[in-house]
Amino acid sequence: MDPMNKMEQLIEQLNQYNYHYYTLDQPLVSDKEYDRLYDELTALEAQTGVQLPDSPTLRVGGELLDGFKPHRHLAPLWSLDKAQNEEQLLLWNGRVQRLIQDYNTKHPENSLPAPSYAIELKFDGLTLNLTYTDGKLVQASTRGNGVVGEGILAQVKTIKSVPLSIPYQDGTIEVQGEGIMNLSVLAKYNETAAEPLKNARNAAAGALRNLNPRTTAERKLSAFFYNVGYSDGIEFANHQEMMSFLRDNRFKVNPYVSYHDDFSSVMDTLHSIVETRSGLDYLIDGAVIKLTDMRTREVLGYTDKFPRWAVAFKFEAEETTTVLESVTWNVGRTGKITPLAKVEAVELAGVTVQNCTLNNIGDIERKNLKFALGTRVFIRRSNDVIPEILGKVTGEQDGQEIIYPESCPACGFPLEQRGAHLFCNNSLDCKPQIVSRITHFASRDAMDIETFSEKTAEQLHDELQVHEAADLYTLTFEDLIKLDRFGEKKANNLLAAIEQSKGRDLSSFLYALGIPNTGKSTTKVLADHFRSLAAVMAATEEELVSLPDIGGIVAESIVSFFADPFNQAGIQKMLELGVSPKEPQAAAAVTDSFFSGKTVVLTGTLHQLGRDEATARLEALGAKVTGSVSKKTDLVIAGEKAGSKLTKAQELGIPVIEDENEFIRLLNDN
Ligand code: NAD
Repeated sequence: MDPMNKMEQLIEQLNQYNYHYYTLDQPLVSDKEYDRLYDELTALEAQTGVQLPDSPTLRVGGELLDGFKPHRHLAPLWSLDKAQNEEQLLLWNGRVQRLIQDYNTKHPENSLPAPSYAIELKFDGLTLNLTYTDGKLVQASTRGNGVVGEGILAQVKTIKSVPLSIPYQDGTIEVQGEGIMNLSVLAKYNETAAEPLKNARNAAAGALRNLNPRTTAERKLSAFFYNVGYSDGIEFANHQEMMSFLRDNRFKVNPYVSYHDDFSSVMDTLHSIVETRSGLDYLIDGAVIKLTDMRTREVLGYTDKFPRWAVAFKFEAEETTTVLESVTWNVGRTGKITPLAKVEAVELAGVTVQNCTLNNIGDIERKNLKFALGTRVFIRRSNDVIPEILGKVTGEQDGQEIIYPESCPACGFPLEQRGAHLFCNNSLDCKPQIVSRITHFASRDAMDIETFSEKTAEQLHDELQVHEAADLYTLTFEDLIKLDRFGEKKANNLLAAIEQSKGRDLSSFLYALGIPNTGKSTTKVLADHFRSLAAVMAATEEELVSLPDIGGIVAESIVSFFADPFNQAGIQKMLELGVSPKEPQAAAAVTDSFFSGKTVVLTGTLHQLGRDEATARLEALGAKVTGSVSKKTDLVIAGEKAGSKLTKAQELGIPVIEDENEFIRLLNDN
């Protein structure tokens, strides 16, 4: 295709995407796909030297919605130049250095300082522009087309962290930030929402550009502020001064701001931000690098679209779209049937994705996926290995139906629906359930039977009728040596490993039993409190709920597990065959150490002690070591490369020990 035609085609496509993204807050493609087409257009424009009149490369933002009062920004709001990789970032820095040098050659009497840089996170939400006159919030608006935005004062007032009045009262200022929805808030909202929100950015943007401020309020939005865009009474010498002004005026400022004189340290910091990204409770799509010196900013100025003194470093996308091809149904350890989606292979954050999770049938309904086979869906990489399907790209029911199974795909037993899940209740006879129970029993955190794998469990099930964990303890050399791929050595190794597992500690044994809703930390609580298997088995719900971190559902699961005659018989059989869980010794509780009674969180790498030893020593001194930072945390020990937990501690004002030597000294002193 000739380049002009191609450009016209791209422009039409991009403008349609822009309309859906900026005006309707309902993107049709992921940012990754949008950026690819946009880059293609920019390349063609550079190649031909032509920029057609309605090219999106000329424009900032989108059209205004009717129904909002327009607000003319006192100073324009810009887009950001972007760098996709280090090379492009170095090019940007090269241009900056050259512009400064040129200026300094021409103005030797008034030269600019060497560049220094601020790095901030690039929040992925909706731009907010707040206008304060004589200390009162008088307007709030979207970015709109950069010159005129939509007035959304009533909506913005529902954001609790936006100050309605500020101490600074000398005339008018405009402050810019980003309205966001925290990921935890989104997850909570989606738990009960009739129609779950696909993405935190659209959720925030859609809520703020909703004509009913009540809807905005329900979404419980938040915001971070990063710029004073206009002021008629105050000037700042640099970014640091501007940030303190924002902080002093009680704006919510993100804790991740760093300052650098040296560009190589900018690069290092960007790498570390990429690593902390997944631990943040809000979306970011990159980091923004800004020159700190305000006079330099003024000299460098702006292009049509963006400042020359800032650049966005875009991270690898975590979201894209692909076609949902089929759904298969897997049987889990507890009989829960989980749908697994097969999608058309697509690249996402450096890996090829072909499988996605779909949680359960409730999820399929709520995400409007019931008629989505063969259609395009959004997928998102999460912390889990398998990405998640967020929803259908369009609202139409234009795909084939996902048919739910009526009987177990493995054993044929009729399925039962409980809440949003399907279950196969044939637990004693359904092979995948048996195999995963035994595999779980043998796994590392459980009985730690070395060399044992899911394959082993399957082979023992099929050929030696091993149908429950207790059967492992009846196996003999003669049994094993008959099996395929089992030589003398392998058979003996497995028998020795099984023998050794008999003496595992009580907490691991309880975990190995696979009590529903009961993870490793709960079984440790049980073992530490009851100190014997018999006592755990006899515990009542009332006793259980009085223990830390055990709620009603967990207590009920534990009691009904031990009330089940099948489970009782299995445990009895194991005990008869010589399994003897090691009971924890009562530790002499230390009550007078620096750490006793304190709730402590470890984060980052501890080079000298390691996490496990640090935990053990803290517990021996009477501390409680927990995994996440909250208001209840008394102390955080931050090792090297500590990330979001450290930030959260700082936000909450929780004392932090950042020096490992100091930490060890305190341990030794006690
Ligand atoms: P941008 O990427 O140019 O960034 C500018 C915006 O970044 C500002 O308006 C501000 O709101 C925000 N920002 C966040 N943190 C900031 C900080 N610390 N300092 C300064 N600004 C900060 O944004 P844009 O011009 O709105 O959009 C371009 C991008 O939007 C595209 O690259 C694409 O990824 C996405 N987009 C996607 C679609 C789609 O259909 N999926 C359509 C249009 C645009």
